Amino acid sequence: MSIFKKIIDRELPAEIVYEDEFCLAFKDIQPKAPVHLLLIPKIEIRSLAEANENHKELLGHLLLKASEIAHQQGLDSGFQVITNSGESVGQTVFHLHFHILGGKKLSWP
Ligand code: AMP
Repeated sequence: MSIFKKIIDRELPAEIVYEDEFCLAFKDIQPKAPVHLLLIPKIEIRSLAEANENHKELLGHLLLKASEIAHQQGLDSGFQVITNSGESVGQTVFHLHFHILGGKKLSWP
């Protein structure tokens, strides 16, 4: 079971900022920006690479919520939404998650 599943099940604490039937958003424990949240689906999908046609609606929901949550957090001038898919690009937790980052000038990539 991933760390994030434990957060969903309330077996591990987290600073939750948003929750609905399908997803949960909470503060990253090692923030890389003044606002750094993680948005995750409640169902277990290991990474974006493992998402499929059945997850189409859920993925749309997550992206729209990412924008809504970013605005709720005051990121009106801009934000980044990033997902690492695979160990080779830095994924460390194997439960799909979107990083929502903002509150300072961010570089790319
Ligand atoms: P990634 O490297 O893209 O898989 O991102 C995983 C993220 O999860 C990192 O930014 C970690 O800081 C964050 N993280 C790991 N454990 C926790 C936790 N218990 N609560 C909040 N964030 C976490």
